[in-house]
Order: sequence, then C-alpha cells, then structure tokens
Amino acid sequence: MTDSTASEGCLYVVATPIGNRGDFTPRAAEIMAACDCIAAEEPRKVLRLFTGTLKLSAPVVALHEHNESELAEQLVKRIANGEQIALVAEAGTPLISDPGFRLVRACRQRGLRVTPIPGPCAATTALSAAGLPSDGFLFLGFLPPKSAARRRTFKEYSYFPYTLILYESTHRIEKFLNDLVDILGADRVICVARELTKLHETIHTGPAGAVRERVVAGSTKGEFVVLIAKQDFML
Ligand code: SAM
Repeated sequence: MTDSTASEGCLYVVATPIGNRGDFTPRAAEIMAACDCIAAEEPRKVLRLFTGTLKLSAPVVALHEHNESELAEQLVKRIANGEQIALVAEAGTPLISDPGFRLVRACRQRGLRVTPIPGPCAATTALSAAGLPSDGFLFLGFLPPKSAARRRTFKEYSYFPYTLILYESTHRIEKFLNDLVDILGADRVICVARELTKLHETIHTGPAGAVRERVVAGSTKGEFVVLIAKQDFML
C-alpha cells in the first residue's frame, strides 16, 4: 500500500527559502508553528527563520544523512501514533540534494500520510529564469568532486535531448566550468545562476566559453546552479 489517510498523523515535507526570507510561505509557517516536532538537518537555521516572526513551540530534532535511517524509525512510530511532523531542509525543498528520502519512503511503506508543502527549490528557480528549454529537464544534483568522474558524466550526457540541471559549490565552480567547456565545447549554451533570491543574484546565459569568462571575472563566492541546454539549442 502506498497511500492512506487512515491515520491522523502526518509527515509534512516543507520547503523553506533558498535565500530570501520573504519566500517562506504563510502555509509553511502555519504548519511549522502547529506541528508536534520538526526534523531538520540544521536545527539552528530553522529557528533563525522564525526569529522576529512566529514563535516556534515544537522541538527541533537533527536529521541528517548519518542518522536518518535510525531517526526515521522513531518518527514513523510517532506519526503512526497521530503526531504531525514537519520535515525541513537547511534551505529549499527537502529530498532535493538533501536528506529525507528514507523518512518519506518509510512513511509510504507503512501507509502513513505524507503531505508536501511546496515552495522554493534552487533547480526550478534557476530553470524558470534561465532562458533554456524547459519542456523537459533532468536534475542531476551534485556531480562527483573529482575531475575525471565529472568529465565522464559530461560525456555520458552530452547528447541528452533535454536541459540538464546541476548543483555546484563555490569551491569547485571554476574547475566545473573548465571541465564543461573542455568536454561539451565553448559554444554549448549554458546558464550559471548564482545566489538566487539573494542580494548578489547573478544569472548568466550564453555560450559556455563566454559564460565561464563572465563567472570567473565576477565573484565565485556563493551557491550555484548550472543548466546545460541540449546540443543543438541556440539562443
Ligand atoms: N534542497 C535545496 C533545493 O531545494 O534547491 C538544495 C540543497 S543542496 C544541499 C545546496 C545546493 O543547492 C547549493 O550548493 C547550490 O548548488 C544550490 N542552491 C541552493 N540555494 C541556492 C541559491 N540561492 N542560488 C543558487 N544555488 C543554490
């Protein structure tokens, strides 16, 4: 069984801002203020979201990659006993390059209610403003940190007929773009979206070689989404 409303308990999968606190939806705030417990990778960041706005009365438990399986068992029991639990990521949508999959799967396996509370996600936020084809896309998250593995991935997906969406950190963005230009060519159309919804938001779309120059000439601090158009796409 994969769906049920038999229990009153529920796991709410709550999206939070990726930078701009104004993107925290009223519904998300309402759920988090009313739930019995909040599971978050970074409890302190969750508490900061509420500073000066709402009072958070529910305890916040730390859920991360290393304790998720164990904690999922405890949370599932609580939901089965009728509790309302909110799952939040450090930023954006839980499970999207963030923990939560094991907990959601455990709830589904037991037929417990899981309700999404939608909101920001860096991947779709970047896609919405990139100017690259949006009729289909593949989200690949973070590529392997080693250059050889990253280059293999670029080769593997070079003929993929839809837009690719990738995440990258400030530490690797330059090497990432160097590998991308080497393997896919300087003319491949890409978009690099940095610090979305924040003060220093910058979005560069164009041929990979030119975009790399613009990114490197600016600040490479912050968080990045890289989108790669299909091979024959021209702006
Ligand atoms: N769960 C998040 C989501 O829904 O997008 C993603 C979490 S993942 C651990 C963090 C990565 O997401 C960053 O390294 C960056 O690649 C991307 N990201 C998050 N916030 C961003 C922002 N404001 N601007 C650009 N990229 C961002």
